[in-house]
Amino acid sequence: MKKKIIVAIADGVGDRPNVELGGLTPLQYAKTPHLDQLAKEGMTGIMDLISPGITVGTDMGHLILFGNPSVNYPGRGPMEAAGVGMDLQPGDVAFRCNFATRGDNNIVIDRRAGRIRERTNELAEIINGLQIEDVTFLFKEATEHRAVLVMRGEGLSAKVTDTDPKAPNDGHPFKQALPKDDSPEAAKTARILNEFLEVIYPLMDKHDVNVERLANGQLPANFVITRGAGQFSVIDRLGEQFGYKAAVVAGEDTVLGVGRLSGYDVYKEESFTGNMDTNVRRKAEKALEMIQDHDLVYVHLKVTDVKGHDNKPFEKAQGIELFDEMVGILMENRPENTLIALCADHSTPCEKGEHSGEPVPIVISGPGIRRDKVEHYDEISCAEGAINRIKGREFVWTLLDYLEVVPKQGN
Ligand SMILES: [Zn+2]
Repeated sequence: MKKKIIVAIADGVGDRPNVELGGLTPLQYAKTPHLDQLAKEGMTGIMDLISPGITVGTDMGHLILFGNPSVNYPGRGPMEAAGVGMDLQPGDVAFRCNFATRGDNNIVIDRRAGRIRERTNELAEIINGLQIEDVTFLFKEATEHRAVLVMRGEGLSAKVTDTDPKAPNDGHPFKQALPKDDSPEAAKTARILNEFLEVIYPLMDKHDVNVERLANGQLPANFVITRGAGQFSVIDRLGEQFGYKAAVVAGEDTVLGVGRLSGYDVYKEESFTGNMDTNVRRKAEKALEMIQDHDLVYVHLKVTDVKGHDNKPFEKAQGIELFDEMVGILMENRPENTLIALCADHSTPCEKGEHSGEPVPIVISGPGIRRDKVEHYDEISCAEGAINRIKGREFVWTLLDYLEVVPKQGN
């Protein structure tokens, strides 16, 4: 019987022995009956997303988990654009942006415009669709003070510098965009972007939203600063190539954006947060619902990574127990032919407070899957498993083999 797979991703779950946990990793410390059951019933291993010692971001990690080679990385800007639901075309140059407060002499008074949260959509509206020469500017608000800018036109390049003066440089002037190489494309992009920034300032400054903010004693969001330019080129879509249907259930825009770029259906709802209050029951239910008409469903949990960044090993262990709860719901309700795989996009060791290049534990479990002798899902136990140590791309192809979509080599 042809199989389907639900892949549960615990963001940044890999860790190191932690003094506060008596020398255990959070995965070893946490009570995880369901994860351990899967390990017991299936085969395990450890995975380097690209190769040993190479650290990846959440965007790159998911690009690989969703079946793309790392060389397809389109840059942070295009990832963010896809994350907020913008449809990119090949050649578009996308930037991550902040709404900011601009004062006299090009000074950026606040890089986050008083941490504006409301009515940024109204400000986005007056910028979106502006045209300078043959370039159209597409602009969309993201969460809080963040936004995405896309330049669409002929002969553009991502080889331009950031205009964001960067933290902690509030009170300094914003930077002019400069070409990073000698190409006419980079020169054109920088020139037109600088012109755009002068066009939007008076438009935004006198907008109702900012008049009201000033009256309330708040900083106006009268400017936009840019960073992380990336040029979009079409990336491989394995699902379309091989004829399988995949979906992504997540709360994080980055993960959803990578899913969308990969050609997968994506699902998010308000109750999916990046914290302990996220609704894992709803995530699991949605994954189970979507596996009905998809071959492959990814379901993502963020909190494990957040607690690693915050150096909170006990809370990371609690986040892992939440992951265990989500996986338990998947196990109890999965259709007969459905495998469950466990993985992560990278390690986020608490003691480092950042991502690291250490491998993450993986499991593939379900009907027909070989069983090894490993009985626990953690970094150390899984290193003794039957899958051994593989790369992210090999993990994905291993999954696709169970979907029976990978063409046979030879005859
Ligand atoms: Zn991550």
